[in-house]
Order: sequence, then structure tokens, then C-alpha cells
Amino acid sequence: MNDFLQQCRDAIGAAYVLTDAADTAGYLTDWRRRFTGKALAVIKPGSTEEVATVVRLCAQFQVPIVPQGGNTGLVLGSVPDESGSAIVLSLARLNKIRAIDTINNTMTVESGCILEQVQNAAADADRLFPLSLAAEGSCTIGGNLSTNAGGTGVLRYGNSRELCLGLEVVTPQGEVWSGLRGLRKDNTGYDLRDLFIGAEGTLGVITAAVLKLFPQPKAQLTALAAMQSPDDALRLLSMAQEKCGAMLTGFELMSDFCLRLVSKHFPQLRLPFPQNYPQYVLLELSDNESEEHANAMLEDLITDALEQTIIQDAAVASSIAQSKALWSLREHIPLAQAEEGKNIKHDISVPISRIGDFIRVTDVELEKNFLGCRMVTFGHLGDGNLHYNVSPPEHGCPDAFIAHQTEINRVVHDSVHRFGGSISAEHGLGALKRNEIVQYKSEVEMRLMRTIKQALDPLGLMNPGKVV
Ligand SMILES: Cc1cc2nc3c(=O)[nH]c(=O)nc-3n(C[C@H](O)[C@H](O)[C@H](O)COP(=O)(O)OP(=O)(O)OC[C@H]3O[C@@H](n4cnc5c(N)ncnc54)[C@H](O)[C@@H]3O)c2cc1C
Repeated sequence: MNDFLQQCRDAIGAAYVLTDAADTAGYLTDWRRRFTGKALAVIKPGSTEEVATVVRLCAQFQVPIVPQGGNTGLVLGSVPDESGSAIVLSLARLNKIRAIDTINNTMTVESGCILEQVQNAAADADRLFPLSLAAEGSCTIGGNLSTNAGGTGVLRYGNSRELCLGLEVVTPQGEVWSGLRGLRKDNTGYDLRDLFIGAEGTLGVITAAVLKLFPQPKAQLTALAAMQSPDDALRLLSMAQEKCGAMLTGFELMSDFCLRLVSKHFPQLRLPFPQNYPQYVLLELSDNESEEHANAMLEDLITDALEQTIIQDAAVASSIAQSKALWSLREHIPLAQAEEGKNIKHDISVPISRIGDFIRVTDVELEKNFLGCRMVTFGHLGDGNLHYNVSPPEHGCPDAFIAHQTEINRVVHDSVHRFGGSISAEHGLGALKRNEIVQYKSEVEMRLMRTIKQALDPLGLMNPGKVV
């Protein structure tokens, strides 16, 4: 392998072929610090051509490749296994905004651009790039597209897939496919772009993308509504969609228990209501007309929802600070849950109309089998996506409870499957759910996926052990 590494050094510069443990450590452990792998080297090319050269060398020397962006992935997709035979291919140096076209409403960016950098570049051009998630200060566009990341704006703008018009990709053979088309209509055969989006680096390396831009909203309003049940939250969602249409940009469900955990661990964050209710929805309207228009719309929605007893109370943020405070409640749920101790996480989706039934049925099944377990249920209700997490009983032994992780995963995922849902709504499969997915996808679907993998990457060098 010395020959391989030397040729990589010759091609992209010795400074960008890292082999010292101190230099590579940060690339080998996953975000949640659950796993540390080994790598032959961490290689950091600085251009598409350099990526292609490194990939060609990998094909020649049969070296597996683990593409990596910001390494914020949550399913062990961006770290190598323990064999030490793979390289980590970091895209961090491909970080240029290549072009912004405000008439076509597109921007062309390299895949190592940090999401926040892309949002800011769009804002500087008086446009909105709407992808937004809590890791936006570290994750990259290449990682976002490779995991088809969701986040808080999916209800209005779609997942990363819907925000991408074209790609530039280095194939596993080291060729460059330039599909950087800024077209909204292009029916010229198989959609290769959609093949690479969500492939988690198993089919090729994304080096650049054409992204969709939108007008900046003139006003953004946030409100918190309190209600009795997830079914009432769904009724509110229907009403909000009827009244507000595309102006509805956020609709997040949070159970009372979630917010009690937030109050317990972050007492400075307060609920704006004098009493507790079983469920809450944080909703956001974005308006391209004016603040007055948005206010009138929101007031009308809340008045009608109160009159029809869909909701029992509501608080509208009247300043940016108040809006941030409401979002803060939502954003602190994962942190509060971590403070509370170990827990078992599920990132699932079911058809929106079935969410109430799913929660009811699955809660009962878990409570029956795992006495005293505490459900931490919150998420992007408007997308049918729930963080359906399970915490140990309040006074039980957390480790004894966590030992049941596989059984608890099985109860939840079987239920998701029965409700026609997905066991990974946002984070992908990576190495973590690769074996589990086989239980829930049909043989036909798995065979088609493997056939695609085999056709594009016959040597099996692209991110082995992930997805399929
Ligand atoms: C605090 C926090 C909040 C999060 N919130 C959300 C959320 O709301 N919604 C959501 O969907 N996800 C969320 N995530 C998960 C994660 O941030 C996203 O999956 C993100 O899109 C990953 O980007 P990354 O650059 O860090 O990719 P990495 O973690 O580096 O890689 C992720 C996968 O993509 C592959 N990959 C990376 N770059 C490329 C490339 N250029 N070409 C080919 N393959 C590549 C990797 O091999 C790996 O399989 C969150 C994570 C954290 C830590």
C-alpha cells in the first residue's frame, strides 16, 4: 500500500494525505462517539479532478473508499470499519460557491460547502436556501444530498432531493459525470441524479450540485398551540393547510412529557401557558406579502381552531426573541433527553393520517412489554416523521433497560411496518440499519437495490458495508 499512498501524495500533495493518528483521529469516530474505525489514510483532495485521480488510484489498488463531509451522520455511514483497509475521502476542501443565478433561482456549489455557508451565500444574494437542520454549522451539502437530509422546512420545500436540480459525480471508476444542469424539466431517460441522492456514498462521490433557491420571505411567524391529542394536532394541520396553503412552513409535534423534560433540565426555558396540556404543536408561517398579512392569517387560524375546540390555548410570538424562545423549546428536547440519561431512539415515518393510531398502538405495546418505559415523542408531524424515543423507567436501572434495545427496536419497527411506514425517515441506513432493513423491504426491492450497486460499483469499493 506504500505505492498507493505515494501516488496519492504525488497527485494531490503530501499535506493532504493524512496517516498520523493525531491527524486522522477526528475522521474515524462518529458524531455520537459510539464507534471508532481504522483507515489506511484520510485523503483530502482539493478539486473534482483530484477526487477523480484518487478514486482511479483506489480502483487500481482495490482500496475501499468512505466519502466523508461534515461527519455529522447518525447511522455510522461516514466512518470506516475496523479493518483499516479503506481510506476516508474527505470532501472538506471542495468548498467553493461556483455560481449564483438569481433569475434561474439556482446556485452551483461544491459538495464540501458547509450548509450554513450555502444558506448565507443565498441570503447575500437576497434568496433563500431553505434546508435547515441543527447540524447546519458542520454538515456539508454533499452529506446532505447523500443522506437526502430533511430538517425543519420539508413541509413547504421538500427534502434535499427536491432542492437539487443537478449533480457532478465522480464514479467508482474515477470518471467525472457532469450533470450540473439547472433545469426544472428534463425528461431524457433515467434520472441519474436521483440515484446518487440518498445513496450514502455507496454509488459514487458527489463533488458539486445545482441547488434551488427561493425568494426570501417578508415575514415569519411562530406560534405554540396546546391540544389534547395527536389526532387534534392532525386536525389542526388540515385546517392550517386549508387556510394557509404554502405559507405553512413548520409544524412540529411535542408531547407534554417532552416539554416537562425540557423544563426539568433547562428551567430557564418556560412554557407560555398557565397549565399543562397533553400535546403541543409549534407552527411557523412564512409570508411573501407582509407581516400584517401573516398576522391576520395566523389569528384567523387560531380563532377558528379555538372555537372548534381543536386546540385549548395558543401563544403567538410577537418578536424575533419570542419566536426563538418557542423554537428553543423544540430544539432542547434532544438535549433534555440526553441530560435525563440513556435512551433508545427511533427516526421513523408513517403516513400522516395514521400518526395518531401509530402512537396509540405502539405506546400500549411498549408499556405492556417494558413496564414504566417513558415515551419521548416529538417531530416533524407535517412530514409524518416522528422521533419516537423510549426512555427507561424513572427509578429503574438504565443499563438493564438499554439491554433490551434490540427487542424495543423490533416492537417499534414492526409497528412502523404494519402502519406502512419507514424505519429511517431522515438519517439513512449507513452501517447501523443495513441488516435491519432487509426485514422490511421486499426481496424484489432489495434485489433491485443490489443490482444497481453491482452495476455502478462492480468492485464494491464505494462505502462497503453501508446501505446494501
Ligand atoms: C445535531 C444533529 C442534528 C441533525 N438533524 C438532522 C435533521 O433534522 N434531518 C436530517 O435529515 N438529518 C439530521 N442530522 C443528520 C446529519 O446531519 C445529516 O445526515 C447530514 O446531512 C450529514 O451531512 P455530513 O456532511 O455531516 O455527512 P457525513 O456524516 O460526512 O456523511 C453522511 C453520509 O453521506 C456520505 N457522504 C458524505 N459526503 C459525500 C459526498 N460528497 N459524496 C458521496 N457521499 C457522501 C457518507 O459516506 C455517509 O454515508 C443531524 C445530525 C446532527 C448531529
